[in-house]
Amino acid sequence: MHLDGAALRHNLSVARGSAPGSKVWAVIKADGYGHGMEWTAQSLADTADGFAVSCLEEAEVLREAGIGGPLLVLQGPRRESDWARCEALGLQPVLHDEAQLPALDAFRGRLPGLWIKLDTGMHRLGFAPLKAQVLFEQLRRHPAAVGGLHWMTHLACADRPEHPQNRAQLDAFSHAACELPGLCSYANSAAVISGLVAGGAPCDWIRPGIMLYGPSPIEAEEGPERGLQPVMTVTAPLIAVKTVPPGEHVGYGATWTARQATRAGVVAMGYADGYPRHAPSGTPVRVRGQVCPLIGRVSMDMLEVDLTGVPEARVGDPVTLWGRDLPVERVARAAGTIGYELLTRVAGRLQRVGG
Ligand SMILES: *Cc1c(COP(=O)(O)O)cnc(C)c1O
Repeated sequence: MHLDGAALRHNLSVARGSAPGSKVWAVIKADGYGHGMEWTAQSLADTADGFAVSCLEEAEVLREAGIGGPLLVLQGPRRESDWARCEALGLQPVLHDEAQLPALDAFRGRLPGLWIKLDTGMHRLGFAPLKAQVLFEQLRRHPAAVGGLHWMTHLACADRPEHPQNRAQLDAFSHAACELPGLCSYANSAAVISGLVAGGAPCDWIRPGIMLYGPSPIEAEEGPERGLQPVMTVTAPLIAVKTVPPGEHVGYGATWTARQATRAGVVAMGYADGYPRHAPSGTPVRVRGQVCPLIGRVSMDMLEVDLTGVPEARVGDPVTLWGRDLPVERVARAAGTIGYELLTRVAGRLQRVGG
């Protein structure tokens, strides 16, 4: 796997350009969407205003790697002792559920920021918007709030910018939070890209994730259409080339049949590497610049491709599974999933080479 640090920084500048007044939490949870959390953080250390991770364990890894600066923990504390860990590491946790309140009441420490999440319609994490004022009164004098009490929400349908729920959620958020002191944050990549930030409620901090890595989060779009560049390129070598006689089948279950004598290549990439097992015959790969279709079922460590379009292909040639010249969204669409899933599932055994 090749990682392109310049593309990562370029994509962050695209996010900034779409939300010029906002600071940027670069979202690097899930091992930096599969790119390696430390590599991603180090590559963006000079350009992001802060990093957002999912849980305390991820935040600890970053601090141990020497990553300073603001760090937002999206799922916030789960156990009582987590609040003290947040203080010790200088984290900004998210408060999103009643169940977190008793431990917060007992905690006397100071935090650089405390974000209150409002559930404005996604019905995943967050307090009812009506509770914002009450929580504000309850927590404003709490030592944990010395660094500020801030407000966030998350949009369910930002990947479809015209969806009416976007407006409804942003209205509910502005109504509940924008009059209260503190900063506001609601925009994931889709909201940043689609202009919901530019035209919507104030967003002091945007939270782009997927767009930093190249894919467009907007339904049926590909990153390059938005000026985004793929950061991760996954390649694997051709390890065998053979001719499949007409009427013969390829792979487990004999699901693909050669209509005529077909040159087939075996690629050292399988579902144990994170390639989707359910990718059907026809899913694109690239060999010597040409798009070739996957044939037969994906195995654990191998998959096969039809090399008819590339007669010059040889054992040892690198095959691109996704990345530069083959957006991961295109592969994901063929496999019935989204780019996020393919990126976050790449296996640890793939060697990462990058700059
Ligand atoms: C993951 C996440 C993001 C980033 O979302 P993308 O779609 O990857 O931009 C932003 N905010 C929250 C709360 C998240 O969980």
